Amino acid sequence: MSKGDKYLSRAVLDLAPSGIRRFFDVASQMEGVISLGVGEPDFVTPWHIREACFDSLERGYTMYSSNQGIIELREEIAKYMYRTQGLSYDPEEEVLITVGVSEATDLILRALLMPGEEVMIPEPSYVSYVPCTIMAGGKPVILCTDAEHEFRLTAEELAGKITEKSKALILSYPNNPTGAIMEREDLEALVDIIIKHDLIVISDEIYGELTYGGKKHVSIATLPGMKERTIVLNGFSKAFAMTGWRIGYACGDPDIIGAMNKIHQYTMLCAPMMGQRAALEALRHGESEMLRMVEDYDRRRRLVLKGFREIGMPCFEPEGAFYVFPSIARTGLSSVEFSEKLLREEKVAVVPGDAFGSCGEGFIRCCYAYSVEHIQQALDKINNFIDRNEKKTP
Ligand code: PLP
Repeated sequence: MSKGDKYLSRAVLDLAPSGIRRFFDVASQMEGVISLGVGEPDFVTPWHIREACFDSLERGYTMYSSNQGIIELREEIAKYMYRTQGLSYDPEEEVLITVGVSEATDLILRALLMPGEEVMIPEPSYVSYVPCTIMAGGKPVILCTDAEHEFRLTAEELAGKITEKSKALILSYPNNPTGAIMEREDLEALVDIIIKHDLIVISDEIYGELTYGGKKHVSIATLPGMKERTIVLNGFSKAFAMTGWRIGYACGDPDIIGAMNKIHQYTMLCAPMMGQRAALEALRHGESEMLRMVEDYDRRRRLVLKGFREIGMPCFEPEGAFYVFPSIARTGLSSVEFSEKLLREEKVAVVPGDAFGSCGEGFIRCCYAYSVEHIQQALDKINNFIDRNEKKTP
């Protein structure tokens, strides 16, 4: 028996390691790798936001903030939610500042779940929902989405997986890894089922600002009867290029936000003070720069989509986030085989689709938050790879 087996919790021993990390540990040890793998902006945080952080240090903002986060930031978030989605939240009781959406996800699941209660998770999806559900004592129930339905969650899929233990539904749109969005009518189709079965919706809207082709993000909380049963999670990592600052937030029902804050005060105490001051500047004066970054992602989105289609890899058009999710069916390889072989033979790193759940098998995730030259180089190499690895028809 190893030490781990003896001393570690069963729940942790049973967690599968992240498929993304495992893959990038290999890639990081090779030289000259061109990566389309890491899901973060290639922009440095805009200068005026960094300056706000210097300023906060000069003024001596180096202490703990209130557990819930500085009131100015909560007020600014409430205004932002109203400006962008028409949603009103009371900054005193209905907004909590967290250490990224990552912490907010953990808090909401721990605040809601009794042992064995079920959380419905559409896949392919971001890697943390399943492990966080398990760590909170819940049971993940996977809902499959597919390219045929543009990776949107359908009412049939949701209705078919409901049991008497169903407690919550996670919606994560715009989606990582597919780039799919849910439009108002897609969300409307889910509402009756959600209300009938008294589900709480955890809506991870971290890519909500990153939408393209005239599409605007719609929060499910804006639909009739949904605000009171939806906790909206968002943050600064993606839209404002602030992944390292670790600031996110949750908005919703005051009792649920209060319960999340209870866990937060004992585990995290508060989000970093300097990050909160910088986030305040991002919301007050960061919108035009954010929109410039979104325009830039859009240019690269079109380039990468055209590239994959020219290579002959079918690729659903993503309308949000900064990922494409092309099919690798042509090669007959599994997504792990494809990604490992591509890394070995062409030194290009992508993420196997099955890292985001078994519904992601047959696809790879490519992030396009890289320079145009970098993307073009990667596409040329993927083209060579496909030429050599095309499935031979008998
Ligand atoms: N949610 C989704 C869908 C993500 O893709 C990510 C990061 O990639 C996160 C949450 C984590 O966000 P944060 O940096 O705010 O913790």
